[in-house]
This record gives sequence, structure tokens and C-alpha cells, in this order.
Amino acid sequence: MSTVLSIRSVTKTYYKPDGSVMAQALRGVNVDIEKGEYVAIMGSSGSGKSTLMNVLGCLDRPTTGEYFLGGKNVATMSDEELSLYRGRTIGFIFQAFNLIPELTIEGNVEVPLFYQGVPPAERRQRALDALKIVQLDHRTGHRPKELSGGQMQRVAIARALVTTPVLLLADEPTGNLDSATGQAILQVFDDLHDQGMTIVMVTHDPKVSERCQRIVRLADGVVETDVRQTPTRPVRTRVAEPAPQATPDSGVEPVAAIASA
Ligand code: ADP
Ligand code: MG
Repeated sequence: MSTVLSIRSVTKTYYKPDGSVMAQALRGVNVDIEKGEYVAIMGSSGSGKSTLMNVLGCLDRPTTGEYFLGGKNVATMSDEELSLYRGRTIGFIFQAFNLIPELTIEGNVEVPLFYQGVPPAERRQRALDALKIVQLDHRTGHRPKELSGGQMQRVAIARALVTTPVLLLADEPTGNLDSATGQAILQVFDDLHDQGMTIVMVTHDPKVSERCQRIVRLADGVVETDVRQTPTRPVRTRVAEPAPQATPDSGVEPVAAIASA
């Protein structure tokens, strides 16, 4: 096994404008994540989950401690180097999807490639390939508002995959979805895991975390427990794609029946 990321004695302190301490969000966290692992980050509100994800995702730098991502020491990179490296290495999935409403589905998926200077024809092809993985390649010209929540999250997953990252980070990716739709999205993550993707997901839902191989539980800015487990997956369901005229809020959500058993 190879190590995808390794953090050592990571702390993160938020300061007030006057320089006094506002919050010690992380107080010495050590985590190693191996290639192909599917890890849930859990813990009560305020325990430091989002702060840890921001550090892992190189959106924020630790106050102290070390972070090695893909064998490289992130701390010594300039902001410019880091953002380039982050773009090539990590795919992010957010609770609120964070799609750009003015762009088409395909345009949204192309965005990370645009920032990497990939030429238009290649961008288009790679966006289509990524949309195929989440079974939305027939919706390329639609705008996000024409899609259901589950479909929007699948677009966001395609956008995260389009750069062929080594690591997927997801902060409560099913938090804004109803339970059936959330299950469909989790099947997409299961499939990506089966294909060897390394996934780290924040969740407070035990039904979500039981699908993971490992649960890292934070409490008050430190790792309280870090346990490996045998994942439990629910039986797969297959639901027909709704008719094209179905409104985004009709409550009908197609299941991403990828590689159904
Ligand atoms: P969680 O995601 O587990 O709810 P967070 O990482 O968001 O926890 O927060 C951990 C602690 O850090 C909390 O006490 C929170 O108030 C504080 N915190 C988070 N972000 C900031 C920030 N940008 N500025 C100041 N304090 C923050
Ligand atoms: Mg949070």
C-alpha cells in the first residue's frame, strides 16, 4: 500500500483581529491515509471536522505541524505551487454542490480543466467522460437549476473526477439530499472506492459511515478514536430515470445504478 496523505501534529488556531486566540480548532492531529481507503470523519459539531478537511484539501494551512500529500511536503510550497498541486491531486465535493448557475452541466465540469489550461476540445471530451461515470452524459446542455439535488451532486462528483485526482474529499455530500437520493449518491462513492479511489468523507450519519472501511472520530480538535471496520452496504436499488419534463423539485430522483450487481 502507498500512503496518499500523512499529517503530523497538526494544529490550527483561529485568531481574533487583536491577535488573541479565538478557537483552537485542531490540537495535534496525526492521520495517515493509504491509497484506496474509504474513510469517514465523524465527531460532534465544533470538533474540528471542517477545519481538518480544509487542511487536508490545502484550502487552509495548519498553524503548526506537517502535511505530506502524495509524498510532497505541502508546507514548503508557495501559494501558487500549492493551488496548482491541489488542483491536480484533490477533488472536492461539498454539501451544497457549489455549481455555477450560469454554466451548463458540461461547462461546470470543465471548470477545473479551464484553470489547468487544458485546450477546449480536450476539456469537452474529458467532461463528457466524467459525466458518463455519474450517468449524466445525456444532460450536458442543461443548467443546474433544471436538475434535481441528486443530479446536481452527481455533476459535482463529475467535476471532482475530471482532473483524475488521487484523493476525493467530501464534506457531508448527502447532507442536503433526501434519504433515497443520498443512497444513490453513496452508491456512486461505493463504485469509485471499488475502482480504487481514495475517499475521505465527513458525515454525522452512522448509516453513511458504516459504508466506509475506517472511522476517524474527532473530539475537541484531537483524534478520539480511529477504527477500521468491515463496511456494510445496503442492497442496491434501480429506479427509472424520470421523464425529461419532470421538474427539478418533483421529488423523483433516478438512482445511479452504476455497475449494479
Ligand atoms: P465542525 O466542522 O466539526 O463542526 P469546525 O472545524 O467548523 O468544526 O470548527 C472547529 C472550531 O473552530 C469551532 O470552535 C469553531 O467555532 C472554530 N472555527 C471554525 N472556523 C473558524 C473560523 N474561520 N474562525 C474562527 N473560528 C473558527
Ligand atoms: Mg463542519
